[in-house]
Amino acid sequence: MTTQTTTEPADAAAPERSDFIRDIVAEDLRSGKHTTIVTRFPPEPNGYLHIGHVKAIALDFGIAQETGGRCHLRFDDTNPVKEEQEYIDAIEADIRWLGFDWGEHLYFASDYFEQLYAWAVELIRTGLAYVDDQSAEEIRATRGTLTEPGVASPWRDRSVEENLDLFARMRAGEFPDGSRVLRARIDMASPNINLRDPVLYRILHTTHPRTGTDWRIYPMYDFAHGQSDAIESVTHSLCTLEYEAHRPLYDWLLDHLPVPSRPRQIEFARLNLTHTLMSKRALRTLVQDGHVRGWDDPRMPTVAGMRRRGFPAQGLRDFVAMVGIAKADNIIEVGMLEYAVRSVLNRTAQRRFAVLDPIKVVIEDYPEGQVELMEVPNNPEDPTAGTRQVPFSRELWIERDDFMEEPAPKFFRLAPGREVRLRAAYLVTCIGVIKDESGRVVELRCTYDPATRGGDAPDGRRPKATLHWVSAAHAVPAEVRLYGHLFRSADPGALDDPIADIDPESERVLTGCQLEGSLAELPVGETVQFERLGYFCKDPDSASGAPVFDRTVTLKDTWAKVQARG
Ligand code: ATP
Ligand code: MG
Repeated sequence: MTTQTTTEPADAAAPERSDFIRDIVAEDLRSGKHTTIVTRFPPEPNGYLHIGHVKAIALDFGIAQETGGRCHLRFDDTNPVKEEQEYIDAIEADIRWLGFDWGEHLYFASDYFEQLYAWAVELIRTGLAYVDDQSAEEIRATRGTLTEPGVASPWRDRSVEENLDLFARMRAGEFPDGSRVLRARIDMASPNINLRDPVLYRILHTTHPRTGTDWRIYPMYDFAHGQSDAIESVTHSLCTLEYEAHRPLYDWLLDHLPVPSRPRQIEFARLNLTHTLMSKRALRTLVQDGHVRGWDDPRMPTVAGMRRRGFPAQGLRDFVAMVGIAKADNIIEVGMLEYAVRSVLNRTAQRRFAVLDPIKVVIEDYPEGQVELMEVPNNPEDPTAGTRQVPFSRELWIERDDFMEEPAPKFFRLAPGREVRLRAAYLVTCIGVIKDESGRVVELRCTYDPATRGGDAPDGRRPKATLHWVSAAHAVPAEVRLYGHLFRSADPGALDDPIADIDPESERVLTGCQLEGSLAELPVGETVQFERLGYFCKDPDSASGAPVFDRTVTLKDTWAKVQARG
């Protein structure tokens, strides 16, 4: 069984990876520009991590690991309005679960607020920053466009003394939110809009999760990020392409401040997946408006959701390695993620019997009260996984769709008069069908061949179908949740109203499923293969009564393929 609750080691023996960022890093080591590589993963604690973040994490921590350097975890906690301790805790837990470790290098941008303030004062002193009394709307309206330059603020040429005084009073809390900002004084005509006197500080009278009410002004991402990198001696600051246009500002600030080191920002393409949304803001809406069970809903692209659903950390790491690192934006088929997950589970997950849509089978000639223990391999892909004893008796459950009263062509499973194999048990033949008043089949009567114990006939006859089964007297009733893609559209982010595109069938709850008894004791968070059905993970909701299982991924269903072919 795969243990989802403990940390797996990250791929110590992973094949060597190569991409344009690793090439730059290798060259910087070779040339002696750096002797130790330092990267950082800088989440904003305003939501849970998603699979896109896994790509960044695997890159940041992976490069540090491969080069014997280090990777810092730095929370970019510069916007206290949206940030919460819950998110900080969840992000740390998720990164550990993914198999990465920041050691003692846990930092917060808020640790540097005093230093950042001192550097802002430094910019004011050198005439490179000013307090602007315009509103956010006025600033936006005068920023210009791609074809037109911006318009200088009427406050752009304030004296250094007045700027110093106003900035100190902003810090002291004398002014209301939105009444003033600190802006860099760069170039209102720059072709790069990020250089048209970007805002460096804003006033926010709110409580910060770490600094409480110490601060009344907060640095913007652009002012905090590069300087935090420099304070931590980060050598390569890796981020997604949307920051490419911010790089000139990143460099400008490092050029004009007495920072202790000189990090380099390099951008790569963000990960996008079909049938999902990947921005924390959008995911927060799904949670807050009750469209899903929470941040860890098994349909969410969050690490917490994927863990709950039974995706192994190894599967997520393999997936982002398959995607690789490049500079062109694209959208990856979610099927590729499922493939990576299935490949890991195929090797690691133990097999169990479970019947999701049960129909009773009575073996008429099997002695009443008799129970035989059948030996079943736990994982045919892994002989070291051993075997287990599964009780067999006169009354069994099988899947309703493993029987057809009038079998279609190419349907080889149970039908009146037909013999099939019950896996690891006996060959049985259907001799009768019992229906209720409405004509619905409620029970099948069979006979068995005692000479076929274990599932093989001494005369070599081989039924075309092998079915799974559960002894009715030993079965555990359970709820099973089948998951599909949350959104019907491949690219819901492109829709005006993605919420309307949510597939109401993306979660189907089955009750009255019948499981092999050993599954009652399976710990929450462990994933097994229900033979012939797919991989299923025990859900935390099991704590409150009958077991609940979430379908992690399906197996390939040959019958569905036959049907699709017609
Ligand atoms: P979101 O839009 O989901 O909130 P974000 O970039 O605002 O994402 P952060 O917490 O600021 O979220 O991101 C932390 C790091 O993860 C950044 O370096 C960012 O570049 C990276 N990252 C975020 N989304 C993706 C993605 N889809 N693919 C790869 N890296 C990503
Ligand atoms: Mg961000």
